[in-house]
Amino acid sequence: SFFEQLGLAEPILRALSTKGYSDPTPIQSQAIPALMEGRDLLGIAQTGTGKTAAFSLPSLHRLSLNPQPRKPASCRMLVLSPTRELAAQIAENMRGYAKYLALNVQCIFGGVPVGKQARALVPGADILVATPGRLLDLIEQRALTLRNVEIFVLDEADQMMDLGFIKPLTQIAKMLPAERQSLFFSATMPQSIAELGKRFINDPVKVSV
Ligand code: AMP
Repeated sequence: SFFEQLGLAEPILRALSTKGYSDPTPIQSQAIPALMEGRDLLGIAQTGTGKTAAFSLPSLHRLSLNPQPRKPASCRMLVLSPTRELAAQIAENMRGYAKYLALNVQCIFGGVPVGKQARALVPGADILVATPGRLLDLIEQRALTLRNVEIFVLDEADQMMDLGFIKPLTQIAKMLPAERQSLFFSATMPQSIAELGKRFINDPVKVSV
């Protein structure tokens, strides 16, 4: 299949065949090769296009090729999502794609008590999917540090702006290591979103579906 031709790690291919995916969606065929090489990405795409697998599969591939012990209160990949529902959906999809890999996925969002989430972060996570406000709360409580983030994904940037997340996003951007891979997705790309994107991504591959 296309996914095999790309050279995705075998446990990822196995997860895809379990799910019954045979052909990539357009955003997947455009984004996956560049992301496997470690490039940054600017994607104009809506939910339903296969965007989650487009960013998850190459990221899981890269993380699995370079296994690292989990570090306390830390994560290697951070995915920011505007709402609890979207965050939970991304985490669930990523758990499916990571099913045969030794990589775990945790999800944190507001509207539920913070204590349990803080405790869950003590041993650290490989992949963390989060909403911005709760992420900052946990960082302020010293339950989480972003210093080990290797891959950063900002999803639904236009919704983030509509929901007033510009300030937390700016704060989060300052805490990310300079050396990292960054992916930035939005359904629309007005000037204000393009400007926001410049703070996160460096010389990106551009994909529009
Ligand atoms: P997303 O836009 O990432 O939320 O994906 C939309 C839906 O398409 C999800 O239910 C995915 O499980 C499914 N999907 C993603 N990629 C593929 C693919 N290559 N083949 C079949 N289904 C897919």
